[in-house]
Amino acid sequence: MMVIMKSGYSQEEMDQIIQRLDEVGLKGHQIVGVERTVIAVVGSIYPELGDELETMDGVASTVRISSPYKLAGRETKPEATVIKVGNVEIGSGKTVFMAGPCAVENEDQMMETAKAVKEAGAHVLRGGAFKPRTSPYSFRGLGVEGLRLLSQAGKATGMPVITEVMSVREVDVVAEYSDILQIGTRNAQNFMLLEEAGRTGKPVLLKRGLASQIEDWVLAAEYILNTGNPNVMLCERGIRTFETATRNTMDINAVALIKEISHLPLIADPSHGTGKWSLVKPVALASIVAGADGVIIEVHPNPDHALSDGAQSLNFKRFRELIEASRVIADAVDRPLWPAAAEAAPA
Ligand code: PEP
Ligand code: MN
Repeated sequence: MMVIMKSGYSQEEMDQIIQRLDEVGLKGHQIVGVERTVIAVVGSIYPELGDELETMDGVASTVRISSPYKLAGRETKPEATVIKVGNVEIGSGKTVFMAGPCAVENEDQMMETAKAVKEAGAHVLRGGAFKPRTSPYSFRGLGVEGLRLLSQAGKATGMPVITEVMSVREVDVVAEYSDILQIGTRNAQNFMLLEEAGRTGKPVLLKRGLASQIEDWVLAAEYILNTGNPNVMLCERGIRTFETATRNTMDINAVALIKEISHLPLIADPSHGTGKWSLVKPVALASIVAGADGVIIEVHPNPDHALSDGAQSLNFKRFRELIEASRVIADAVDRPLWPAAAEAAPA
């Protein structure tokens, strides 16, 4: 249910409504929009609730939310959510680039990559420290040392950083080092982890589960939003289908559909979506055209020697070419690139 507030309501009236909801075991999320402020009410709503709330001061009206997405849907909040990380705004109508290695391998690799992607025009630095690998015998990341190296490279180049958190146990330490918490595809429905990540208040990038339908995915985002953390972005990273010619099937439909149904920013991950470096550029460009607010790209100084995901990683030259091509396409669809980190925050 949505409580639509009168214009000119007072914060005291708002607090009283939220307190009343709390008393009856419901949760009210205040959503301040451009045109109106609403309270999205979640929980087991009973039939008389609307009438009860309409007697309270500050309330203009109440309406049922028909969509399953009580907090993520456009019904509750028509205007786009903009997430500010460092000097970068994600979801603002400008296209954002996140880039860096699949895994942090050592200080030189991380620092060299950070400098190269920043110079090319990236805005956010990525690098995995806790790596979910199919085999337990593959390189599983440097752990906390990886977080430290990523954070150091981010600071040295003036870019905010993003890294994956794989378990509830590591949420605090990842939140200490990282500006954005990434929830990977394998944990996309690990509801305890989603809630713990949400509670940090840090922006969360939620990847789509390998076999998640769009509804599964957006409902997973609801878990994070329901902790009171509004800073959630969704990431399409390809799904498992019958097709074996590519690592995953990048669902471009999902990019366009998410922008229709949800106000949350959508980030496209053509690296994991395709699994093949030569497909990263065309699919990144397609994602921008389909409405992505940003892309996340794996970049490595020497993809042949990468400890993970080398086949889908771009070298520095290819990343520069991708950014240059994206500039043209993003301008053409009127979502130009966010000003380069180099301009926004000198190192
Ligand atoms: C990654 O970003 O390196 C990663 C492991 O992603 P995903 O969870 O999409 O496989
Ligand atoms: Mn990877």
